[in-house]
Amino acid sequence: MIQSKGYAAQSADTNLAAWEFQRRDITENDMLIDILFCGVCHSDLHSIKNDWFAGVFPMVPGHEIVGRVTAVGSNVTKFKADDIVGVGVMVDACLECENCRSHHEQFCPEGVQTYNNIGKDNLPVYGGYSNNIVVREEFVLKVSKKLPLAAVAPLLCAGITTYSPLRNWKVGKGHKLAVVGLGGLGHMAVKFGIAFGAEVTVLSTSESKRNDAKALGVHNFVVTKDEEQLKDVKGSFDFILDTVSAKHDINLYLSLLRTSGVHICVGIPLESLSVAPFSLVAGNKALAGSGAGGLAQTQEMLDFCAENNIVSDVELIDIKDIHHAFERMKKGDVRYRFVIDMATINK
Ligand code: NAP
Ligand code: ZN
Repeated sequence: MIQSKGYAAQSADTNLAAWEFQRRDITENDMLIDILFCGVCHSDLHSIKNDWFAGVFPMVPGHEIVGRVTAVGSNVTKFKADDIVGVGVMVDACLECENCRSHHEQFCPEGVQTYNNIGKDNLPVYGGYSNNIVVREEFVLKVSKKLPLAAVAPLLCAGITTYSPLRNWKVGKGHKLAVVGLGGLGHMAVKFGIAFGAEVTVLSTSESKRNDAKALGVHNFVVTKDEEQLKDVKGSFDFILDTVSAKHDINLYLSLLRTSGVHICVGIPLESLSVAPFSLVAGNKALAGSGAGGLAQTQEMLDFCAENNIVSDVELIDIKDIHHAFERMKKGDVRYRFVIDMATINK
């Protein structure tokens, strides 16, 4: 077995704390990766608090991983020791079912999430808030050394989760896109929306983020608590990408879509959102969802980011400050992704 050091929640009622544990040995198809950086996703917080379902504890969260390969199994062909690589929200799948064959491995019924899940060997899997990880080759992504690696880590979840729906719905030139919530996912959605040629508006609850949004290059910034500002954008958007992590009035946002507009949910609040059928019927509007992204599209996104110099805006933290980061995240005060510097685990 491989010795690992991490930060784990022992139950949904306890805070994360230092924890030593073991990972499985690498098989011929696996790689051992020393983790350099791990992004802090709002899903990590939802998961350790059992917001969505009863989790697998002890839980080491983290699915925005960038690291250096230290060992590869004998069947591994794509990677070698010292390569810089990424790991996102999944570490295994059957690779044979309809979802896998259509490059939606994230929806494989036998898929294994990076943490809060049981692996094919019937043992729990542990995520990226740790010094190393063992992952099957197919689930490891190539990362360009050109970009600052701490700022690449969030691409593995926040990046692909926003790139994927924008690509799948072919959002681009001539479209008006609104991004709801300027947090980890939201700021990546803004960057991709602009890169794809759309006119991007941020719909936010935080006036204090206006200047940051403008610096990102948005066309418009609307504070959704202000009726007057909302009036100006009523019926105007082709697409809304909704990254909100808490309960919100979806009917309000649907009223901002133009005829045949599409509201895409990527945020996953614990409460159900109540949709008035009239909000959809009046104007032929569509409500959609999108979950992470498949392996090929994740590699495409990483390559696109390397070519276009796109990374996340990050605050690098010591792993011991993770609670403070979670507190700020709960208040919507993320600017715009916390990333753990994993070297701090040995301090
Ligand atoms: P985050 O960094 O905390 O950003 C969420 C943003 O939502 C906040 O910064 C805030 O922006 C806005 N917000 C918060 N509470 C709100 C409220 N009550 N009403 C309106 N807006 C509110 O979180 P994240 O990491 O981007 O994740 C966002 C959500 O996506 C989470 O639920 C997460 O679990 C989910 N997620 C889904 C997938 C997927 O595959 N679909 C993948 C990753 C994450 P403003 O200050 O601008 O209002
Ligand atoms: Zn995530």
